[in-house]
Amino acid sequence: MEEIRVEQSQSLKPKPQGDQLEFGRVFTDHMFIMDYTMGKGWHDPRIVPYQPLVLDPAAIVFHYGQTVFEGLKAYETPDGKVRMFRPEKNMQRLNRSNDRLCIPAIDEELALTAVKKLISIDKEWVPNAEGTSLYIRPFVISIEPYLGVAPSKRYQFIVILSPVGAYYKEGINPVKIAVENEYVRAVAGGTGEAKTAGNYASSLKAQELVSGQGYAQVLWLDGVKKKYIEEVGSMNVFFKINGEIVTPELNGSILEGVTRNSVIHLLKYWDYPVTERRISMEEIFQAYKDGQLEEAFGSGTAAVISPIGELSWGEAKLVINNGETGQISKKLYDTLTNIQTGKTDDPFNWTVEVE
Ligand SMILES: *Cc1c(COP(=O)(O)O)cnc(C)c1O
Repeated sequence: MEEIRVEQSQSLKPKPQGDQLEFGRVFTDHMFIMDYTMGKGWHDPRIVPYQPLVLDPAAIVFHYGQTVFEGLKAYETPDGKVRMFRPEKNMQRLNRSNDRLCIPAIDEELALTAVKKLISIDKEWVPNAEGTSLYIRPFVISIEPYLGVAPSKRYQFIVILSPVGAYYKEGINPVKIAVENEYVRAVAGGTGEAKTAGNYASSLKAQELVSGQGYAQVLWLDGVKKKYIEEVGSMNVFFKINGEIVTPELNGSILEGVTRNSVIHLLKYWDYPVTERRISMEEIFQAYKDGQLEEAFGSGTAAVISPIGELSWGEAKLVINNGETGQISKKLYDTLTNIQTGKTDDPFNWTVEVE
């Protein structure tokens, strides 16, 4: 493995107070960069002062969106150490996304070592107020200056760090969600299962429209029939129907969340019936009418668990569990956040220490 060289920043920035942190607005003192050139491969891994990039305006990423990203978090634990949650899963997914976007694979071990080293250099930036964490954003951009539509011959893999505030300021709280009947996020055969910029660019319009009407996120339906449930915003989604917990099966257009995987793992460990299958919006509506729609929640790195208190679908308004956080949602949230923050033991060895 190529040695990661380090260039220390000469002017350290002031660190924000834990209670003033938002999501993704401030960044630490350093960043990781590695270059790729066709013929030479990935080379020159380095940690340098956080700084703007200088790119050719013709760089492919600006025109055709050949880019992928990841998102994960590190937490300060009660013993004063810093731990990440299942980071190897993010590196594996990064390479699955890379493959879909014709970006050359990255050595996952090197990427993990780079993230650990970067965090340890910027360790002072890991916030420790309740609910706060250090958000880690690895990403790859295509930087060859070329206006032809073709995979780039040059890339950069970059990792930046951002201390982020508590997602829930006053404890876990249900949100209102609007089922999206017009726009779609992804289709089978498209790029829905890759974490790539285009998916998020195409989701903005629907999100804009519903947030003006008081909804936190949209619930995406399948791109062909607009019948089957896919995801909620940029989270995976679960429902509890008559005692059974169901989530849409991975079908090529759904992003496979690390939180989703952890939720399924925990539910099985607790012996709850959990099924990955196709779920139509009609089925959810019928379960609601029959009084069997017991809980609904989203899962993702940012919120961990986000209970759904109300679903609007055309004229129908489905109020779930009286608009309150359900038992399973709460139990999953508490268990996952306690493992992540080191408040309980970690029976599945999910956390990885930053040395
Ligand atoms: C990142 C993401 C998720 C959640 O994945 P986690 O690994 O749990 O954070 C779900 N859906 C979409 C579209 C995403 O981009």
